[in-house]
Amino acid sequence: MFALFFVYLLLELKCRIMNIVKFAFNPLQENTYILWDQTKECAIIDAGNASAREDRVLADFIAENGLTPVLAINTHGHFDHLLGVAFLQNTYGVKFAMSKADASIAEQMMSHCAMFGLDATEVPTIDIDLATATEIGFGETTLRVIPTPGHTPGGVSLLHTESGALFTGDTIFRECIGRTDLPGGDYNALMNSILTRIIPLGDEITIYSGHGDKSTIGHESLYNPFVVEAINEEVNYN
Ligand SMILES: [Zn+2]
Repeated sequence: MFALFFVYLLLELKCRIMNIVKFAFNPLQENTYILWDQTKECAIIDAGNASAREDRVLADFIAENGLTPVLAINTHGHFDHLLGVAFLQNTYGVKFAMSKADASIAEQMMSHCAMFGLDATEVPTIDIDLATATEIGFGETTLRVIPTPGHTPGGVSLLHTESGALFTGDTIFRECIGRTDLPGGDYNALMNSILTRIIPLGDEITIYSGHGDKSTIGHESLYNPFVVEAINEEVNYN
């Protein structure tokens, strides 16, 4: 009886595993994440692939692992996070989810491509508006959509509760925070998002951000100078 229960528990755990693989794409070394579960359906968060070579790296990985892309999800509308979405739409017919509050920022993708000498790609059309969504799913996986404006007005973070994985885009990085000097940026809104929407999720949560290495909320509470200052000085960012 106990043995059967143990096998059941193992199967339950196996079924809840979500795989996460990261690629750093384009000249801004933007983190593109592929997520998939036991159904082999996959979602791509912040597809930043920006050349034929990077498209091939992504497509080869998808093929080699037998994955079926169904969804492109963006944490925000900056061009370095958006460059590969049209490729995913055209190649796999994925739906594209992003907050429409960032649509006007996304529209500037072409001019930013020119600045960085990148081939201009299409600005992808948004199929699912994350400004009004509380969760989004693929396969048997559900991600909670947490509004975290500040870096951009429509910025969101995505939480996979079962594994404690949080995709923060450019809201918070390992020991740093996102820029707020770009159009639509708001420092007080960013700090408010971090302090009231991210930190309370708990120390054990792993942060997968839009650039650089992963971290944890516990680490950022101790070593992120912006967070530490706000907590210690009880700065009010409302
Ligand atoms: Zn950004």
